Amino acid sequence: MGIIYITTPIYYPNAPPHIGHAYTTIYADVLARYHRLVGDEVFFMTGNDEHGLKLQRAAEEKGVDPESFVDEMAGVYMSYWKMLDISYDRFIRTTEPDHEEVVKKAIEELYRKDLVYKARYSGWYCVNCEKFYSEKEYSIVEGRPHCPIHGKPLEWLEEETYYFKLSEFKDYLVNLLENTDIVYPRQYAVEVLNRVKEEGLKDVSVARPRERVWWGVELPFDREYTVYVWFDALLNYISGIGYLRDTEKFDKYWDSVHHVIGKDILWFHTAVWFSLLKALDIKPPRKLIVHAFLINKGLKIGKSAGNVIAIEDLVNRYQDSDGVRYILMRVFNLGKDVEVSTELFDSIYNSELADTYGNLVRRVGVLAIKKSGGVIYKRSLDQEIESKIKEAVARYSDAMESFDVSSAVNAAIELAREANAFINRVRPWEKLSPDKDLYTLLEAIRITTLMLHPIIPRATSRVARAFSFEIANPLESSPCSVERYEIREAPILFRKIRGK
Ligand SMILES: [Zn+2]
Repeated sequence: MGIIYITTPIYYPNAPPHIGHAYTTIYADVLARYHRLVGDEVFFMTGNDEHGLKLQRAAEEKGVDPESFVDEMAGVYMSYWKMLDISYDRFIRTTEPDHEEVVKKAIEELYRKDLVYKARYSGWYCVNCEKFYSEKEYSIVEGRPHCPIHGKPLEWLEEETYYFKLSEFKDYLVNLLENTDIVYPRQYAVEVLNRVKEEGLKDVSVARPRERVWWGVELPFDREYTVYVWFDALLNYISGIGYLRDTEKFDKYWDSVHHVIGKDILWFHTAVWFSLLKALDIKPPRKLIVHAFLINKGLKIGKSAGNVIAIEDLVNRYQDSDGVRYILMRVFNLGKDVEVSTELFDSIYNSELADTYGNLVRRVGVLAIKKSGGVIYKRSLDQEIESKIKEAVARYSDAMESFDVSSAVNAAIELAREANAFINRVRPWEKLSPDKDLYTLLEAIRITTLMLHPIIPRATSRVARAFSFEIANPLESSPCSVERYEIREAPILFRKIRGK
């Protein structure tokens, strides 16, 4: 029994979430559900990043005030997370008073420590990212710097502002990246190290003039400024668990924090976040799990690339949230971008959910009802399947503990495949009393179901009800532990998709 605090990035709600947000959030949810299933105490947080210029503008364009705009968008995000069965414990909003208070106190502390100072700031700026880009980051198109994410021309911006002395934390940061395994997979730590060694660490702006950005937390020591949205946003990870308010809760969860992020915000979550924590005398996170992107025809899926796949379209096409969750976790990759398409999604859904797991449940359910009146008592297991079960659980557990959800899914579905092959081999429908075979198959289904539960909670709960077993920790559910199965129905879990 352990404790784990899992976070997603907080999202910028200038538009509804799309498949990219779902990819990160479902992944974090699967980790949270897995840890609950194996008995850990979990605090899982997601939320919205509600301040800043982009939202100020989005609200202006709609002719509403930012406050009602972000209120509405918080509702939109929560409804999507409900649609996808995201089991968060807190949905944090950076406009909440407890968060804003932490932002003010934190920046005041840095000011007092002389880690924040006033100076002139200038550079190439992307309005969409709300971010300055260095020469190393931007791309040159027709002689002009362009945003590496949006591909739009950058603006040259100069303003008097406040800086955070990020440069003071270079040695601390290099030491962390070189000598700890916080950043996972390792390749991302190397990426940040290379950049730090090449460019060094430059001080960063932590405030915006109020006349330009008024939708933000007021800078407590200079009312002409608001706190820069990145600073405000990063602090959600500590304010959300009671920093400065509930020390006991904060210490308990911070100790085991696992941040999940996409690689586009790697720099902010290492160079900037680790340094900021140090500046506040808070230890670095336990883990920063970084994932690569879903791409479509070579481009990162996103609003600006115009290749967004709508979450509701996916949910409709793949029956319900389970189909979407399974598909996205099956292709999930921390280290490499994954090219996705409807063809790929259809084929995973059809071959693995419908033909493998769904079909196994249906076949065994029907056989058990027909051959044994739906009641199967405990028998010794087929030895080969028993050892396959043990292997699968070991592979699953290793994969989950190293955050490799895709391999965990694979271990589970592989067991279902073995069970299907076993049916074809032993042909229980030809036997007078196939209860030993059926018991073996039910045990294989049960363990597969437990392993898949964090990924497809709906279908697995339905199987557990239909076959009368408990959803429990798969790592501790040894085969042959159910005394009696009562098969109440043989559900059809997933309808195959045919044609377009
Ligand atoms: Zn941009």
